Amino acid sequence: MGIFGQKKESAHISAPIIKSTFALPPRPAPAFPNMNNYIIVILDSCRYDTFMAAMPKTIMNLGDVECRYSYASWTAPSHYNLLMGLLPHTSPANVYASEYYKKDFIRFNERFGVKEFEFKNLVPQLYLPPFLRNKLGFKTHAMVSLPVLNPKTPINVGFDMFKLMDKHNDMAAMLDEMEFSQDYPSFYILNVGETHYPYALPDEPENEWPRISGVHGVFKHLDDHIVGGKLVEEESEKFFNQEKLDQLKERQINTVKYLDGVFEKLFDIVPKNTFITVTSDHGELFGEEGYFGHGPIMHSKVFEVPFLEGKIR
Ligand SMILES: [Zn+2]
Repeated sequence: MGIFGQKKESAHISAPIIKSTFALPPRPAPAFPNMNNYIIVILDSCRYDTFMAAMPKTIMNLGDVECRYSYASWTAPSHYNLLMGLLPHTSPANVYASEYYKKDFIRFNERFGVKEFEFKNLVPQLYLPPFLRNKLGFKTHAMVSLPVLNPKTPINVGFDMFKLMDKHNDMAAMLDEMEFSQDYPSFYILNVGETHYPYALPDEPENEWPRISGVHGVFKHLDDHIVGGKLVEEESEKFFNQEKLDQLKERQINTVKYLDGVFEKLFDIVPKNTFITVTSDHGELFGEEGYFGHGPIMHSKVFEVPFLEGKIR
C-alpha cells in the first residue's frame, strides 16, 4: 500500500532547491492591467467529508464548498493535472469532455483577472506555469511538502521559485516566504502536508505520531511508493484496525481545524487583488472496504475532494 510498507530509506532526496533548474526567458510586462495574484492551495490527501466535518470557518469565507472529484488517486499525477489547469471536476453527466474543459477554462479569466483566456492558449505546452510566466507576466512560485514533488521532478517547469519545504507539515512556514510584487502578479501553488498521513501538526513530536505495525522507524519520506526516485518494496504487515482508522480520520479533521488558523494569516498577508482556490489532490480511505490511504485504490472516496475559491476582499 502506498504510504506505508516502506523499508528504511536508503536514498535521500537532496536539499531543497529554490531556483528553477530550467532556463527561463525574460519575463514580459503584465499582459493586462489590474491582473490578480492567483494562489492554489492543495490540502494534500484531504477528503471532502473530513474537510466538512472540520467546518473551517475562515477558509469557507472564500465561497461555497463543492464536492468535486480529482482526476487522479495520488499526488504526482494529480499535481501535474492541476498545473495543466484541470482542477478537480464536477463529473457532469451527458456532457462531452471537450465542452466541460472549455467551460471550466473560462473560469481562469476571473482567477487571473484577464480576458479571453481559453484552453487553446496553452497549446502546445499545455502547462500553466510557463504560460503564466512567459505570456502573462506572472512571477511563478511553488512550495511543496511532499518529496515526490521535489524541484528536480519534471513538474518544475516555468517556475521562478520551486521549493521543497524543510518540514512536510508546516504551511505557516510557507507564508513566511510569500512575497507579492507591485509590478507583477504572483502565482503560488502551495502543496500543504498537514492533511497528509500521519496528519500531524507542526508542533507534534514525531514520537507521538501514529505508528504503523510492521514498519519500524519514522516516516521520513511521506509520500507513496517512491523514495529517492526508486520504487520501494513493501513488507507484509498487519492492517490497522477500524478503531485506529477512525482515530486517523479524526486526526485529519483536526489538521483542517488547525489549518483554518493558518489561512487566517494567509488572508491577512495577501494583497486585495488575490484570487484563491482551495482543494485537494485526492482523498483518503479510512477503512472503507478494507482500504487505507490513497494511490493504488479504486474507490470513490479517494477521488472526493473539497473545492472552493474566490477573493477574500
Ligand atoms: Zn497527495
